[in-house]
Amino acid sequence: MTKKDDNISAMCRPAIGEAGKTGDWRDKRPTIDHNKCIPFIKKKPACFLCWLYCPDGVITATIPISIDLDYCKGCGICAEECPAKAIAMINEEGKDD
Ligand code: SF4
Ligand code: SF4
Repeated sequence: MTKKDDNISAMCRPAIGEAGKTGDWRDKRPTIDHNKCIPFIKKKPACFLCWLYCPDGVITATIPISIDLDYCKGCGICAEECPAKAIAMINEEGKDD
């Protein structure tokens, strides 16, 4: 019988936590306005482009979506890809531009 490896999935999504709690590396953090988020508004699974494009695999494809800030490195791709502008990047406290 083949042993299942939980770190391998069909989409080869990144594994959380391989380098520790990488959220400490972040200068900016994503914030979500759920009232602009398509699946939250429609109350059904839709869009989830942020989940698809997040290189760290830290966004859930759930209603509402959530972001695990312990591991989000603040790249801003989710905010760039969101068609509804529901995600904004804000400065981390003490890390001004
Ligand atoms: S800022 Fe980057 S790492 Fe953080 S949730 Fe968005 S896409 Fe993922
Ligand atoms: S990409 Fe934007 S609208 Fe789509 S699920 Fe993510 S936050 Fe919501």
